[in-house]
Amino acid sequence: MLNKQLDTLFTFGIPGRRRVWHWLVPMLLVLLFLSTMLWLPWQAQQMEATERQEKLIADTLWVEQTIRFQLERDEDSIRLIGNEISGGGLSGKRLQDRMTVLTRNNRELSRIIWLGPQGRSVASTDEAQISINDLSASSRVTAERARATRTPQYSQPAAPSGLNEPMLMDYHVPLYVGEKYLGNLVAQYSVASILEEMVPWWFAQDNEILLADGNDNVIARRAAGGPGRGVYTHSRALDLPYASVTLRTNSIKSEPTLLPNLLVGSVIALSVGLIWSLIALWRDINRRLAAEGALRRQVAFRTAMENSLMTGLRARDLEGRITYVNPAFCEMVGIPEEKLVGKAPPMPYWAPEAMDEYQQRFTQVLAGTVTPQHQTIFQRSNGERFPVLIFESPLVDDTGKQTGWMGSMLDISDRERVEDLNRRQQEKLEASARLATMGEIASTLAHELNQPLAAISSYTTGALNMIESGAAKGKQLDPEVLKPALEKASTQAQRAGNIIRSVHTFVKRREPSREPLSVQSLIESVITLVELQARQFFVHLQVQIDPGLPRVLADRVMLEQVLLNLTRNAIEAMQNVAPERRILRIVAMLDTESPQRNVVISVIDQGHGIPEEVAERLFSPFFSTKAEGMGMGLKICRTTVEFHGGTLVHAPNPAGGTIFRFTLPALAEATRESHTIEQK
Ligand code: ADP
Repeated sequence: MLNKQLDTLFTFGIPGRRRVWHWLVPMLLVLLFLSTMLWLPWQAQQMEATERQEKLIADTLWVEQTIRFQLERDEDSIRLIGNEISGGGLSGKRLQDRMTVLTRNNRELSRIIWLGPQGRSVASTDEAQISINDLSASSRVTAERARATRTPQYSQPAAPSGLNEPMLMDYHVPLYVGEKYLGNLVAQYSVASILEEMVPWWFAQDNEILLADGNDNVIARRAAGGPGRGVYTHSRALDLPYASVTLRTNSIKSEPTLLPNLLVGSVIALSVGLIWSLIALWRDINRRLAAEGALRRQVAFRTAMENSLMTGLRARDLEGRITYVNPAFCEMVGIPEEKLVGKAPPMPYWAPEAMDEYQQRFTQVLAGTVTPQHQTIFQRSNGERFPVLIFESPLVDDTGKQTGWMGSMLDISDRERVEDLNRRQQEKLEASARLATMGEIASTLAHELNQPLAAISSYTTGALNMIESGAAKGKQLDPEVLKPALEKASTQAQRAGNIIRSVHTFVKRREPSREPLSVQSLIESVITLVELQARQFFVHLQVQIDPGLPRVLADRVMLEQVLLNLTRNAIEAMQNVAPERRILRIVAMLDTESPQRNVVISVIDQGHGIPEEVAERLFSPFFSTKAEGMGMGLKICRTTVEFHGGTLVHAPNPAGGTIFRFTLPALAEATRESHTIEQK
């Protein structure tokens, strides 16, 4: 049962499923964080690749536009020359100059030739005579088609007839004057030069640029920055009339690697660090949980212990305010915990009559001069008083500083009651044993005395008879005759006396031994005992002994017994009166009125007094108004006092209560010094 409770405590009241979430959520978050951290560089790489690709496309488009624009300008210039030739305004040297200027300004043009209707050169920028047969086969086809369709057009790039290179692309402009065909004006482009002249250097530096024909054969290549990596590529048709030429770009850049590597490296390093610190944290938490569990088990164990204790526990801080009480303490004083904790003196369980003692004790506690163990009396919530035994010890915190006091309380009322009952029972037992013995003794005595008395009786009768018979005979009786009988009678009388003495010794237990006693020493010898009883019932004790009292001849032990009896009766009579009225006075003075100069000792209380019907039977043996009383006390007291030649009387106290007064005859001698003791 207890184990189960402790187990429940040990799991801290967290249900199993919640504890799983406790760990699952952070783990999932860490995994999410790690995957995000790994995804981010990959995403960055993708974005950069896309960006590079887009830039390449844009640049390629721009280059294509540039080439197209330049070719169109060239086309315009050539067509213009063609028109002027057709119009008859341009020939000879001027034509030659115009064509030369055009080729010089546009270096992609390797030559311009005017081929007549028979295919022979009419004018040319070259020194050499070129005929149509020097052109490539595709160019010759284009020449024919341009003539037939009367529209300028490009030929498929090809090497001149009989050669492998250079790759040339011809632009044929048919020349007509009305229906008269004047031949073709042919502008020959070096395909390689198109790339050299028209592609800007910065683009060529970063990319490999190719021109490909309709069959996907590479016809020109420019790779100033080295070969392309094939990662970022783009192709774009140049869109020339009748010629299919494609511009291809291939970036020399490979995929970005440095950034992701660095990022991934740092992410992995961070993740390892993170996981390591998580594990360390987890271990630390586990250690703490284990320590906390052990602590809770300790607390549960101690609480169970405290709750099962019969001893009351009470902790106070340095100002005396209650900081803790256990159930046993609450039960003892009959006040719930919530009304006690936080309470400062005076406490609700303090009995008003013992207030001075508590305050004094509390001052001692604060001064640190307190004794670890003491006995006092507390009050239950119903007003009932009960004696407690208190053990105090300092409360010290983990730094060794004292924070208050811990007190454990034992309710000793039961113990005292049992002890008291035992004592009275014992007394009763002894008395009844003695009484039983006395019965036996009486019968033995009767039996034992019978013999000597019968003997005495027969001896005396014999003696009387002898006297009477002597007188009758008128003879003088010789005393010697009577002597043996009287001696025997006397011996028997002594025997009877011995028997009686031995019984007396047995009953009295001891012979009274009288000695001269000072009244002060007599009273002082019992005062400690009286004080003990008085303190138990919170009775204030006052002792007053007149100075110069004479000594008395008395048995100390017997008179002590008388004083103890009277004071005990007085204290018991005051048990139920108001605390401030509980005053017991012992007064010893000289009885000036008596001629024998008696000493009078009075025991004065302010108790419940003695009613008429009780007063009549006060000194009768076995008369008692107390549940546990034996009723022999006053009887013995009176016998003892009378044995000493004094008297014991009682009178009502004018202040309430009773006065018991006994006298003792003074010893005739010089007066002695005396003094007054005033005690609590
Ligand atoms: P016990 O004390 O055993 O009862 P005692 O002979 O000493 O026997 O007393 C007899 C009775 O006298 C008591 O029971 C009590 O009623 C009464 N008595 C004795 N002393 C006092 C006193 N000081 N005041 C009132 N009553 C007293």
